[in-house]
Amino acid sequence: MNFALNDEQLEWQQRCRAFATDVIRPAAPIHDREESVPWEVMKAANAAGLSGLAAIERTGSDPDGLLGPIYAEEMHFGCAGIALAISGSTLAAAGIAASGTPEQIGQWVPQALGIGDELGLGAYAVTEPQAGSDVKGLRTTAKRDGDEWVLNGTKVFITNGGIADVTVVVATVDPALGHRAQASFIVPKDTPGFRQGKKESKIGIRASQTTELIFEDCRIPLENLLGGMEKLERKLERARSGETSAKGASNALATFELTRPMVGASALGIAQAAYEWTMEYFLSGGDVADPVELYLDDSSTAGRPPIERQNVQQVLADVATEIEAARLLVWRASWMGRNGIPLAGGQGSMSKLKAGDVAMWATTRLMDLVGPYAAETPLEKWFRDAKIYQLFEGTAQVQRLVISRMQASEFRERMEGARAAVESAERIVAEAADDVQATATTA
Ligand SMILES: Cc1cc2nc3c(=O)[nH]c(=O)nc-3n(C[C@H](O)[C@H](O)[C@H](O)COP(=O)(O)OP(=O)(O)OC[C@H]3O[C@@H](n4cnc5c(N)ncnc54)[C@H](O)[C@@H]3O)c2cc1C
Repeated sequence: MNFALNDEQLEWQQRCRAFATDVIRPAAPIHDREESVPWEVMKAANAAGLSGLAAIERTGSDPDGLLGPIYAEEMHFGCAGIALAISGSTLAAAGIAASGTPEQIGQWVPQALGIGDELGLGAYAVTEPQAGSDVKGLRTTAKRDGDEWVLNGTKVFITNGGIADVTVVVATVDPALGHRAQASFIVPKDTPGFRQGKKESKIGIRASQTTELIFEDCRIPLENLLGGMEKLERKLERARSGETSAKGASNALATFELTRPMVGASALGIAQAAYEWTMEYFLSGGDVADPVELYLDDSSTAGRPPIERQNVQQVLADVATEIEAARLLVWRASWMGRNGIPLAGGQGSMSKLKAGDVAMWATTRLMDLVGPYAAETPLEKWFRDAKIYQLFEGTAQVQRLVISRMQASEFRERMEGARAAVESAERIVAEAADDVQATATTA
């Protein structure tokens, strides 16, 4: 086993870090303050081959699967909101790739990600006011009317809402069949009956646009149903006959397991940024909130540079260790996914859960350490940006449920395997004993 990055991975890491530092960082405070879409940075990322199809092709070329998480971490090191504005369209592209026919993938993925110098944006709209973690409760409907589908409903908290060229909308075609009649539809920008609702004002990732989307008798062509009519008919048939589709559910779970390490890597970028800034701050003599010194007159630390104080060292050591631990989980899950090793124990979810929790915990600890004036430092933004990684793409609580269920299922399989092995061994022993008995009797 080799834990060292190879030359190609190191070069890619440096390239992404340079873009994050030189292009993303200078633009971050403005877009964070104004909650504006960072078009100029998105265009620069496209020109540098750090977004869209170019980035997907490059990161997908690595047999270790590490170029993807390295990219996500380094871009988010620059600014999580801008990095999401640059890469958020991949969610829509993944939705099209997962459900679409080859023709639909060829038609819509390039539009969602951009072609050449042309920026393209995608949105993936699932969440509704009453259906977040519980996606079974979706109420947006799609009714067939001749050669068209007619969509009605409201989606909330949609990344790239209102600015996306292509929106993938999950809706139910038969409310009586509930979630088993859900399907995905392509709604191009400017389709009549489709409009942006309220734009959210958020505490973090403010450069990434999040809005409501409203569908009022929104008509789209029949062929905008992802996967096509035949596939939908088969699905509805199964739903009507009451046939359960454990395969469908496990396919969806397996897909999320593959995408979650990238979300974990994004959270790590924030934690790493906060850690590096704090280390630099103390190394260059920055002051520290030191309750020990303030209240207990601890003479053993008085007069020492902050970096030599034990309370500072304790926190920095914990933060560094947690970041490393989370990164190993992220990289392992990415490596497993790339090499076709099933993430049956929830390794993808584990990596996202751990990295999201580490980002929130680390930025909180570092803010506490720097003290009352931390709110006037860059730590304040990283602290705000971190929170979303415990919420979207599966909340931390839901991740825990997923992990424990996948673990239980893996254990059950292992126990059944062990039981079958014991039974088979017992059978062999019994047969051997019978043979011995028979031989003895004959003799
Ligand atoms: C900035 C941002 C961007 C987003 N982008 C998109 C997007 O592009 N597309 C999209 O479709 N959605 C998007 N979302 C929605 C996001 O996926 C949902 O917010 C998320 O799934 C949680 O849903 P909810 O907010 O309705 O919370 P709820 O599901 O209502 O949960 C509320 C609380 O209850 C907890 N909870 C829920 N169920 C359980 C349970 N069974 N056991 C224990 N605890 C539970 C949750 O963990 C949470 O703490 C985005 C959200 C935000 C904030």
